[in-house]
Amino acid sequence: MNNFEEYCTKFVQLVGNKEGAVSPAVTNSASFAYGTPEIAQGVFDGSVKKPLYSRMGNPTTAKLESIMAEMDGGVAAIATSSGMGATTLACMSLLASGDEIISIGGLFGGTYSLFSETLARFGIKTHFFDVDDFKEIAQTINENTKIIFLESVGNPNMKLPDIGRIAKIANDSGVIFMVDNTITPLSISPLKLGADISIYSTTKIISGNSSALGGCAVFRAVNDGDDKLKSPRYDFLAKFIKGAGKMALFANAKKRALRDFGMSANANASYQTMLGFETLPLRLSRITSSVEIVALALDEAGLNINHPCLKLHPHNERYLNDFKNGCGTLFTIDMGNKKKAFEFLNKTKLATLTANIGDSRTLALHMASTIYRDFDEETRKFLGISEGLIRVSIGLENPQDIINDFIQASK
Ligand SMILES: *Cc1c(COP(=O)(O)O)cnc(C)c1O
Repeated sequence: MNNFEEYCTKFVQLVGNKEGAVSPAVTNSASFAYGTPEIAQGVFDGSVKKPLYSRMGNPTTAKLESIMAEMDGGVAAIATSSGMGATTLACMSLLASGDEIISIGGLFGGTYSLFSETLARFGIKTHFFDVDDFKEIAQTINENTKIIFLESVGNPNMKLPDIGRIAKIANDSGVIFMVDNTITPLSISPLKLGADISIYSTTKIISGNSSALGGCAVFRAVNDGDDKLKSPRYDFLAKFIKGAGKMALFANAKKRALRDFGMSANANASYQTMLGFETLPLRLSRITSSVEIVALALDEAGLNINHPCLKLHPHNERYLNDFKNGCGTLFTIDMGNKKKAFEFLNKTKLATLTANIGDSRTLALHMASTIYRDFDEETRKFLGISEGLIRVSIGLENPQDIINDFIQASK
């Protein structure tokens, strides 16, 4: 049974209620009344399990969080207003001025500018590496390193990391390992491969229909006995380990980031995201199969396609061994220059031109003139953004229809 089949059962069962309203209830309330001062006190000290205030948690969002935690085998999850909200939550809950991040692969443009520009203003230094720079990664770790950050699939460079090997480097050196798994939910389970926190933009394939912005961070359980987090490097976690035990990473993020920065999810977006979960395995199964069919056909037709299912791709072996359920919805086409790329995008009748990915529809976008327009040449080169590069996110259409349309558009 592949991952998708397992989740087909799990998600429809988890989202629907067996009694009363089948569809999850949407609790559109910012605040919650406590009834008595005694209950209010209990809600604030945690002894009464009732909602406190929607910035700190909402019943609709809580249901989404329990599904996300179950999906990744985590102890708990925090849903956020966007994927960038989830990355910011996870990072800001662990970082202080003078700390360092090691960022590997990718990188999604928003995450790159968060690390290279915004966090730099707060005295946090990020070292960027390619996915296979194992030696350099290990050598760069020092006592200030608080986070090793990895994207499960390079977007848009389509490089695949050896997640297990990078997890081992992080765990051997006692550093928290975070994986942005936005592109490969279900296909890759970061916590099972040794990550401490998995991060998602649920805006993408999880919602799947461009209807709800959202994000989520899923946390692993802290061990009762030995745990790398019980070290001087993470001394600020000690009080959460004492108070919340295995939930310490989650409790720290809730107080130090969600409460203080307020990147909270809203109930309507959480509801729409749950509807996406019902069909997520079916859509992923269809799309990961279509991506291969379309990439192979376009490659055969002479287009310059970048996807690890192609034999000449440097990570083809890793794709076949470690990404048995595919690597998401993306591939890229390099048209050689901007003019040819624009001609292609003007001629395609099927692709929707937008900055999103993982939608029900096939999407396409010229990278250098849009998402990466603010980046200098050197950075674009590091991120693999060439002048003619188009990123494609395959949708639910019939794959032959996509092939026919793209071939006519490329002529
Ligand atoms: C889109 C995306 C994000 C950011 O998510 P938003 O919901 O747009 O804030 C982060 N990481 C990856 C890999 C993404 O594709």
